[in-house]
Amino acid sequence: MPARADVMIAGGGFAGLALAIALRQGLGDAFTVVVADPALDHPIADARSSAIAAAARRLFSALGVWDEVVSHAQPILDMVISDSKLEDVVRPTFLTFAGEVAPGEPFAHMVENGRLLAALHGRAAADGIVLASDAVARFATGPDRVAVTLAGGASVETRLLVAADGARSALREQAGIGTVGWSYGQSAIVTTVAHERDHRGRAVEHFLPAGPFAILPLTGRRSSIVWTETTAEATRILALDDAGFHHELERRFGLSLGELSAVGRRGAFPLGLKVARSFIAERFALLGDAAHMIHPIAGQGLNLGLRDVAALAEAMVDAARLGLDCGGATVLERYQQWRRFDTLSMGLATDGINRLFSNRSDVLRLARDIGLGMVERLPALKELFIHEAAGITGEVPRLLKGEAL
Ligand SMILES: Cc1cc2nc3c(=O)[nH]c(=O)nc-3n(C[C@H](O)[C@H](O)[C@H](O)COP(=O)(O)OP(=O)(O)OC[C@H]3O[C@@H](n4cnc5c(N)ncnc54)[C@H](O)[C@@H]3O)c2cc1C
Repeated sequence: MPARADVMIAGGGFAGLALAIALRQGLGDAFTVVVADPALDHPIADARSSAIAAAARRLFSALGVWDEVVSHAQPILDMVISDSKLEDVVRPTFLTFAGEVAPGEPFAHMVENGRLLAALHGRAAADGIVLASDAVARFATGPDRVAVTLAGGASVETRLLVAADGARSALREQAGIGTVGWSYGQSAIVTTVAHERDHRGRAVEHFLPAGPFAILPLTGRRSSIVWTETTAEATRILALDDAGFHHELERRFGLSLGELSAVGRRGAFPLGLKVARSFIAERFALLGDAAHMIHPIAGQGLNLGLRDVAALAEAMVDAARLGLDCGGATVLERYQQWRRFDTLSMGLATDGINRLFSNRSDVLRLARDIGLGMVERLPALKELFIHEAAGITGEVPRLLKGEAL
């Protein structure tokens, strides 16, 4: 472990590793990057897969990570949305999205989390990033440096500490940064299923009264399920035996893809909205879920985190190339300004959609179905939604355009 590092990143999840690679590739071998995470040498098995928006895929391409996952990535070719009660026999389609953000470039791909994390880990190791299988325990900030202490006792002096330690970030708390938000009282059940018929790259979102039930295409005849229930109901369903779980799954999935079989582990994640009151403090930055946790209804949490990565990396690389302090206040302010508005608007949008759809009111159901029907008839609005979901609107950092830093 080096005694000094230019940047120390706490958390070797998607956000932390992607930032480390971007900085190392942007600033070269002389720029020391340390990533510390106790899970680095024994990754926690993750039952989830992620929708990777086009902009995030461009970032992974620019970082040399996409080639490692592309053979396991399923393009989402179209998406249909239905709004119905659980007992409804027919689930009419209210909205369909199809198309590409550029010729030959789908608006998103589905990738299993484990594969993506392994590819990031491999790239980080190959790029000479110091990977420490240890937790960051505490830190003390001075005018030019942060003294960081790891749980195992090692210490590192750095110009910037980046907390990419997830939604329950202990480092955010140590930095005295509060959060705003609330729990939804809902949990997302996740699993992977195999089915008889081909999904043809179609993603399906059934808005059921308890919340969205998403069927997201994976490579082969497999799909990833993200299934929202109240937390009490999710706990009950998760505890069922295989036959009981299969029955509940099939009631929601339907038979459009033929016989189903569960092929993956099951897990459940409590859902909430949580946004940090500030993304920065002195020589300290929050990144990814440590800065914001949102409802997975639009599959955007990780994509938001990767937008943080692209913005912070660009601000730091531009400063360092001018000989400026890449952990100083100017760089951090630029990062925060770039990310705050986008994060708040995405957080509030997912919150609004979840509230509108996760309920049993017939009046609201009529209102939202009229709304969906209107969007369905307005191609320009649909295109805007696709580009927004793909992450390619607004002031886009270079990495999200697929350009090297
Ligand atoms: C059901 C569900 C489905 C989702 N689907 C999608 C989707 O389709 N598309 C999408 O974009 N997003 C999706 N998301 C959101 C996405 O999974 C998260 O936004 C993403 O995993 C966050 O990545 P991260 O690197 O910020 O944090 P994490 O993945 O939580 O990583 C944090 C890391 O920090 C480490 N750590 C913790 N404490 C310390 C410490 N003190 N020192 C060092 N390391 C520490 C942990 O071990 C962990 O490895 C979904 C979320 C859920 C719940």
